[in-house]
Amino acid sequence: MNLPFAEPYKIKMVETIKRSTREDREKWIKEAKFNLFNLKSEQVFIDLLTDSGSGAMSDKQWSALMQGDESYAGSSSYYALKKTIKEITGFDYFLPTHQGRAAENVLFSTLITGDDIVPGNTHFDTTKGHIEYRKATAVDCTINEAFDTSIYHPFKGNLDPEKLEKVLKDNPASKIPLIIVTITCNSSGGQPVSMENLQNVHQLAKKYGIKVFYDSARFAENAYFIKTREKQYERKTIREIAREMFSYADGMTMSSKKDAIVNIGGFIGLRDVELFRKASTFNIMFEGFITYGGMSGRDMNALAQGLKEGTDFEYLESRIKQVAYLGQRLKKFNIPVQEPFGGHAIFVDAKRFMPHIPKEEFPAQTLAIELYIAAGIRTVEIGAIMADRDPVTRHNRYPGLELVRLAIPRRVYTNNHMDVVAVALKNVFDKRENIKRGVKITKEAPILRHFTVELERL
Ligand SMILES: *Cc1c(COP(=O)(O)O)cnc(C)c1O
Repeated sequence: MNLPFAEPYKIKMVETIKRSTREDREKWIKEAKFNLFNLKSEQVFIDLLTDSGSGAMSDKQWSALMQGDESYAGSSSYYALKKTIKEITGFDYFLPTHQGRAAENVLFSTLITGDDIVPGNTHFDTTKGHIEYRKATAVDCTINEAFDTSIYHPFKGNLDPEKLEKVLKDNPASKIPLIIVTITCNSSGGQPVSMENLQNVHQLAKKYGIKVFYDSARFAENAYFIKTREKQYERKTIREIAREMFSYADGMTMSSKKDAIVNIGGFIGLRDVELFRKASTFNIMFEGFITYGGMSGRDMNALAQGLKEGTDFEYLESRIKQVAYLGQRLKKFNIPVQEPFGGHAIFVDAKRFMPHIPKEEFPAQTLAIELYIAAGIRTVEIGAIMADRDPVTRHNRYPGLELVRLAIPRRVYTNNHMDVVAVALKNVFDKRENIKRGVKITKEAPILRHFTVELERL
């Protein structure tokens, strides 16, 4: 008999989580204005809001933390991190930032001005926010298959080369400061981009003289999918694959809170020294001096170690298998989920889950609220609330998909927790006819409204 699968680590420290009653949660979610971001963490039993900064650091990361060098300039922690980033990505230049969106802010301050066009696969919400805040436009060139959760495609994060080329052909190069490829593509369901597609994007960009940047929060999970789904890469290591991926880009932004398994941090990686010089000015203004940029020395040390652990095949396998375990359990209960399963999360298709709730009543948000009330599980809506209003017309945007994201923090929960989540969702599914109406917005911010939106039940 083959040995069953097990995680390549054991648990050294535990943290108590609290159960609550349904009555408690009914009261709390009302107080939170039906926005799950407003809940206190102690009101949550299993927190699948995000896999961002919520991972468990290793004993090696904790010990690296103790050796952080807190010198304002020239910290040895900075040099250790620079060396690791060079080894893993190949980029010669890097700037530390306090998190991923800060990297976007610094890079876009350097590159983007009003009227610009930034094509890519589905842009992440903060990325799009930073583009639109500058009055530029993000153009989604993701393949059509990504918008149908029932179709199997191994690389639903791929850009459609025809859609991309049309944008590049129809606009002057001076208006397209960069193409952003998000690996894996968070907003379309944690879906990977194939190496072949990265090569295609690189070729097209070269043809039209445009820069390519990767939004790289989950580059290691992307490399895992290339290794397991793209035949000619099955014998390559994760690091070899990552190096090749980055060889097709001019630079990267990174939210280290994802695949680098730290609780805070980010960076920009660059090939071009001129761009590095320009970006350094903004880094100093917004983030801090170029050898710490919003991070403490100890955090840079933990990040350097986290990058190594996050690109280890055995770790990645256990992570992605846990996500798939939850996906399989949900599928057995006939719950409609995005397939193939994403790297960091399972996405429930709320339109197929509750076809009787119209899009104007925010079905994904409605489902996230019901799941919280049912079992104290916190998830996040990736649908019309997050899609925000069109910056020009101010009309609500209704994206192709209304998803509830169950994001799995790294090295935090066991498969017993996954079982609780699966059964809780099944219970909501079995009684979905009882959910008669959705929610409406009573208050919202002008941009990135989902974080602070206030809602009412209809
Ligand atoms: C999380 C994330 C960001 C933003 O990073 P923060 O560290 O949260 O600021 C950008 N892009 C993608 C794809 C992400 O997942």
